[in-house]
Amino acid sequence: MDRLKREAYGKINLMLNISGVRADGYHTLETIMQTVGLYDMIEVVKTEEKGIRLTCDLPYIPTDERNIAYKAAEKFIERTGYAGGLEIHIEKTIPVGGGMAGGSTNAAAVLNMLNEMCGFPISESELEAIALTLGADVPFCLKRGTYLCEGIGEVMTRLPDLPKCYIVVCKPRASVSSKNAYGVYDQYAHPQHYDHTRMIDGLHKRDIHAVAGAMGNSFEAPIGELCPEILEIKQKMLEMGALNAAMTGSGSVVFGIFDDVDEAHRAKNALRAERYRTYCVKPIKK
Ligand code: ATP
Repeated sequence: MDRLKREAYGKINLMLNISGVRADGYHTLETIMQTVGLYDMIEVVKTEEKGIRLTCDLPYIPTDERNIAYKAAEKFIERTGYAGGLEIHIEKTIPVGGGMAGGSTNAAAVLNMLNEMCGFPISESELEAIALTLGADVPFCLKRGTYLCEGIGEVMTRLPDLPKCYIVVCKPRASVSSKNAYGVYDQYAHPQHYDHTRMIDGLHKRDIHAVAGAMGNSFEAPIGELCPEILEIKQKMLEMGALNAAMTGSGSVVFGIFDDVDEAHRAKNALRAERYRTYCVKPIKK
């Protein structure tokens, strides 16, 4: 197989709790991640001419070693000794700097696709270890569905699928870099903690109201203080019928969970009318 084109899905963090800081300075998390139906398209082509050539439809995304999908291809070549060259093309839809793992999911897709195109030379567990060297969200992005991710992203536990619902995702005008978000959190005087066991209980009971009631994100208050748009969008989603709404990851995207499809589309259209990039998507199962 010399050519493959696949969707690389984004994620939301249904809940995110910062549980501590390790001796090496890394923050540890307890987060429930959910794959959602918003995706970038990734095409990988094997070529005879050596080297990696990456292109992207967004001009401001780097196309060299700074691109995390490029790094993923380098790691694959380093590990397997693949002797040919590669062309990788990325069509972005997932908002950049939104906390939806846009870069991470591109890297994970490249790892999965190359492994498949080369006859699966790398086991699932080794692929996860390589993914973790690229970023905390990359191991989850190799999979799909609903997972509890702990530590620095290396401990993943599959959870029951999110019950049927509609997810409105809205990108504020501001973007947030994950690195800065940890600094902002560390300076914040009133850190908030959330209990993942309540949400897991709701998932087992297949109760979307219980799941929505257990949403929360330790980054939301400190990042929201710097970027009030986040809290305004959240408030609008709640007023328009969301069971609950929260920021995803380290921001800035806000998502609302709806059990009524018409309300979800009304909320999406109202936010679009305010010129926010907004989508109504469904959860993606394993
Ligand atoms: P996460 O949820 O994993 O924290 P994010 O959605 O907040 O990620 P990204 O969209 O992944 O953030 O990207 C943030 C930065 O990474 C941008 O500055 C961008 O230039 C750089 N970047 C490198 N490779 C990519 C890629 N393949 N797609 C998007 N951004 C990339």
